[in-house]
Amino acid sequence: MNLTKKILIALVLGVMTGVGLSFAPSEVFSVADQYVLHPVGQLFLNLIMMLVVPIVFVSIVLGTAGLSDPVKLGKIGVQTITFYLVTTAIALLIGIGIGYLLEPGTGGDFNIGDTEYEEQTPPPVIETLINIIPENPIDAMSSGDMLQIIAFAIFIGVALAVLGDKTKRIHHLFEEANEILLFLVNLVMKTAPYGAFALIASALGGAGLDALGSMLMYMVAVILGLLLHGALTYSLAIWGVGKGNPLTFYKAFFPAMSVAFSTSSSSATLPVSMRMAQEKLGVRKSVSSFVQPLGATINMDGTGIMQAVATVFISQVYAIDLGFTDIVMVILTATLASIGTAGVPGVGLVMLAMVLNQVGLPTEGIALIIGVDRLLDMLRTSLNITGDAACAYIISEREKRKDTQPVQANEKV
Ligand code: ASP
Repeated sequence: MNLTKKILIALVLGVMTGVGLSFAPSEVFSVADQYVLHPVGQLFLNLIMMLVVPIVFVSIVLGTAGLSDPVKLGKIGVQTITFYLVTTAIALLIGIGIGYLLEPGTGGDFNIGDTEYEEQTPPPVIETLINIIPENPIDAMSSGDMLQIIAFAIFIGVALAVLGDKTKRIHHLFEEANEILLFLVNLVMKTAPYGAFALIASALGGAGLDALGSMLMYMVAVILGLLLHGALTYSLAIWGVGKGNPLTFYKAFFPAMSVAFSTSSSSATLPVSMRMAQEKLGVRKSVSSFVQPLGATINMDGTGIMQAVATVFISQVYAIDLGFTDIVMVILTATLASIGTAGVPGVGLVMLAMVLNQVGLPTEGIALIIGVDRLLDMLRTSLNITGDAACAYIISEREKRKDTQPVQANEKV
């Protein structure tokens, strides 16, 4: 049986076990979680997390060094950021549209009297941008600061490209390190079905799904938004711009989506999503190793959809009307928030406070959605990394087409 099938079975069994446990007496869940689900899940999580920093560093160094033409890096960079910003804005519009269409915050019985939410200060986005250049690269690696690691790796990659033969041994060393890391990803992926099963069952079992009640409509709205964005925006982009088949794309990328679903972390999924993109979708290494780690940090369409629906939902629960300017502000701040959101579980909710503050909505509203956020986090993380892979696929396909185009067009001149 191939890995995709095994993961699919693990996913179904994990959801069934999790939902079953959420209805069982809480003691049953805590024993199962403490002795089986949590240890197995955490072991898998650690195994893939262990590979994230070295993979991002090594593959970006190699990716940059392999782009013989530095102008190309700039062009790919501009295309990547444009794709990320445009798709995030579309995601937010979809979220807001669905929020107004389904009105999840009206009619339900929401207990806003005793909601309490202790706001955590989200990191200022300007700071994040300035700090992209690390003061201390070792520090960046030890704390797993992805943007800083990316920046440092690009510098080293450029140096290797410029110095050429002078540094060919170090270049070779990076290539060998890359082989080792890919070997390890393949090894770790063999444990993915067990890890995914345990993580999913543990998350759903503890999510209190029996207490959904009035939050059901909110969840339906977010899930609908995620599905629409995946089925329409990405599919159209893959088909229209990438000239590829969306179905083949989703089929090949599915294992990465399910690891994202079980870990709720774009960063942790990186080793798997890069491998799937390169090996199953044929994305060029130089493109994938630059576009995907960047996306795992700054591109979060799924998180954007949740934030858009949540903002409209909270405005409806508290009966505070949002005007046109407010909506524009939501789109701007949520786009910035998605850049500042780290690819780890639950951060999207912390960043939501920034969006709510911007349009004068009470941050206590977050307390209402916190209870059902676990499952939504799993789903939106799958979409988050799919957006990064779609971008890498499209850019890579365009590059391939450019490289195979007959040169005579230029030569005629
Ligand atoms: N868990 C998400 C991710 O890693 C971020 C979030 O929305 O909380 O992509």
